[in-house]
Amino acid sequence: MFSEVLKDYDWEETTGRIMTKTPADVERALTKKNPGIEDFMALVSPAAEPYLENMAALSRHYTQERFGKTISMYIPMYITNSCANSCVYCGFNCHNKFERVILTTSQIEDECKAIRSLAPFENLLLVTGENPKAAGTSYLEKALKICRPYFNNLSMEVMPLPTEDYERLTHAGLNGVVCFQETYNRERYKVYHPAGMKSNFEWRLNGFDRMGNAGLHKIGMGVLIGLEDWRTDVTMMALHLRYLKKNYWRTRFSVNFPRLRPAAGGYQPNIVMTDRELAQLTFAFRIFDHDIDISYSTREYPEFRDNMMTLGVTSMSAGSKTDPGGYFTYPRSLEQFEVSDDRSPLQVAEAIRKAGYEPVWKDWDKIFD
Ligand code: SF4
Repeated sequence: MFSEVLKDYDWEETTGRIMTKTPADVERALTKKNPGIEDFMALVSPAAEPYLENMAALSRHYTQERFGKTISMYIPMYITNSCANSCVYCGFNCHNKFERVILTTSQIEDECKAIRSLAPFENLLLVTGENPKAAGTSYLEKALKICRPYFNNLSMEVMPLPTEDYERLTHAGLNGVVCFQETYNRERYKVYHPAGMKSNFEWRLNGFDRMGNAGLHKIGMGVLIGLEDWRTDVTMMALHLRYLKKNYWRTRFSVNFPRLRPAAGGYQPNIVMTDRELAQLTFAFRIFDHDIDISYSTREYPEFRDNMMTLGVTSMSAGSKTDPGGYFTYPRSLEQFEVSDDRSPLQVAEAIRKAGYEPVWKDWDKIFD
């Protein structure tokens, strides 16, 4: 289990190692075909900032070599905002008083039809809050079965589950799971997740091993940028990724780095990551791992997404609604976060073509499952 590996990495010491990397360390990392974790630390360190253009060129080169000039398109479908957790940064946390929604089977079907009428999406990401009693594995199984005829590739971003539940859901059409560790800082994790199932750091962390053991085709990872020092968090995530790839080599992996943004009256991030820093992180991940799918959501604003689509990003969401039922059933109920890119899917596809890339709606067929 990865929790055993992580015990050997002290947070402060790792931060110190990153912050003392030198230009020579960065130059060495840039020449390596298979950079190691020390090289990754150099690439995300402040010492790498003057090398951003070299990193961008290398990132573009590796991305085109592996993926060609393509961007895979996906869309999230929020099916419930019911949540028993109390993450301090999230509007869905159980202390916020508002009417909770758990979509019925016919409402989920309406959402499927509404999405299909927007654009030819084949990659659907089902998203829920975390409420195993009201919307547990049986509910997820039903939802997957309803969505199955409409989409070729089904993923979900839900609470971490036992291995056997992941296995069960693959029989209902589940292809991939996305889970955010949020932060790898074990001590500070408790502050952000004070109660509920999500307060169990180990259960969440080792959920990725359970996904691997269940034989999922794809695993998506991420940390929430804005909680703790991002350089240390992404280094731990890179370490985690290397561990998972070694142990579950049949599985494909993706990474995502959502940024918490300051919002009036909302949770204020501890740190704010600049666009340059997010670009540096994206390039560092591509140089570190040429095969990884790097995903940008509609949290990022249009101009930035348009710039990054030729420099390392390989999948994007578009037209996203972050409220359950937002496409058809309850447009404008409470959103988990406000999207920054509110262009329609077809407008995003047009921007991709303008950049000389091809939007790919279908890159998986259900007969492969
Ligand atoms: S981040 Fe997820 S688990 Fe935490 S309160 Fe929000 S919906 Fe619930």
